[in-house]
Amino acid sequence: MQELWGRKILKKEVDDIELVEEHGQKLSTMQEVNEKTIQCLRCGQIQNKSIVQLCNNHYFCPECIQLGRVDTSQKFYHLSEPIPVQRTVNFAWEGKLTEGQQAVSNDLLASVKENESRMIWAVTGAGKTEMLFKTIHHSLECGYRVGIASPRVDVCLELFPRIQAVFPDEPMILLHGKMEEQYHYTKLLVCTTHQLLRFFQAFDVLIIDEVDAFPFVDNPLLQYAVKQAIKKTSSLIYLTATPTKELTKKTAKNELQTSILSARYHRRALPVPRTKWCNQWQKKIKKGNAPRALLKKIRTLGNKNDVLIFCPSISLMENLKETIEKKFPEVPLACVHSQDPERLEKVMKMRNKKYRILITSTILERGVTFDGVSVIVLGANHAVFGTSALVQIAGRVDRRKEYTAGEVWFLHDGCSKAMKGAIKQIKKMNALGIERGLIDEM
Ligand SMILES: [Zn+2]
Repeated sequence: MQELWGRKILKKEVDDIELVEEHGQKLSTMQEVNEKTIQCLRCGQIQNKSIVQLCNNHYFCPECIQLGRVDTSQKFYHLSEPIPVQRTVNFAWEGKLTEGQQAVSNDLLASVKENESRMIWAVTGAGKTEMLFKTIHHSLECGYRVGIASPRVDVCLELFPRIQAVFPDEPMILLHGKMEEQYHYTKLLVCTTHQLLRFFQAFDVLIIDEVDAFPFVDNPLLQYAVKQAIKKTSSLIYLTATPTKELTKKTAKNELQTSILSARYHRRALPVPRTKWCNQWQKKIKKGNAPRALLKKIRTLGNKNDVLIFCPSISLMENLKETIEKKFPEVPLACVHSQDPERLEKVMKMRNKKYRILITSTILERGVTFDGVSVIVLGANHAVFGTSALVQIAGRVDRRKEYTAGEVWFLHDGCSKAMKGAIKQIKKMNALGIERGLIDEM
């Protein structure tokens, strides 16, 4: 029956239906809001009855249908979480936190002890995962259930082994849409935010990493999932390098406690993007000519580091690749985007220095670390590059301990509000880091 603890699942998701029928608690799947509308209790979305009526006069929810159809003929099966029991948990982390990380780690632990929520706003490359370890350890020893969720599956895949290594004796599970492993109960788990739709009052501590990333941001369905998945008394922890306006507003109004870590663990300032005018870059690339400003930058940056080129349009990427190849025939390069079946392989090759230049869509804006890279954002004023995306992209540079003089360049044909916003935010964090004594002068 453990499979029902803190879960809210449909009959078809249950293993031993006889046992569950006998002992499981049944919850409604949908509830009428008024005569005309009905709310799904898995994803919280309200539907117009006339649109979601089935032939048998029941209603269904189209919003969360990818997790299996919910309709009014069904019930959810659920059992409450067992009462937490104090225990000993093996903690195998031997690293040391920096002064800045330690302060955030202390804040976090204090919040969890008080069952309060908190946002951690840590600059790109600050080392945020390490700051969680002490709190996760404390929570597990209290007998709490701890979830670590991210909107992005690649972030989950990267987090899982790191957390498992720190708690080597702790059973853990990784949940995402394409997993093959059968669900089983664990006190510690890593999942995509979509998977939270299958939980109900499960977590004492729920950590949402990359809270500003797609598809979580501005998604009421996933935000409902989070509220449903936590216990009434619990701590919700948000992690981000680029908080949304909504979160910063909550912080300003003191509705959400926030810890800011404004410096990286290696005590160097964040690289501040520089801007360079690049006229009619789209037109030139379409014609098979690379803009001069771009070629010049590739040449100078490429002398010191590998180069990541962010391109706003997938359709232009192939053209761009061919043009650069002609100008630099000796340089191994590739382009990559979200639909590319060889995406992971290409990223690995860039990491292993098999490529010197990687042309990419915004898919690599976060969640990846390369040694010794500089970044060029071509058409940085394009609408796909919002402030957060530009801050994240700039954050790909100088993440490792060794300094390689990596640079960030925004090539544009008209400075956008987002570009100015990103540069301002990065400078502000650097100033704060210096003020707090977390950044050394170079
Ligand atoms: Zn739904």
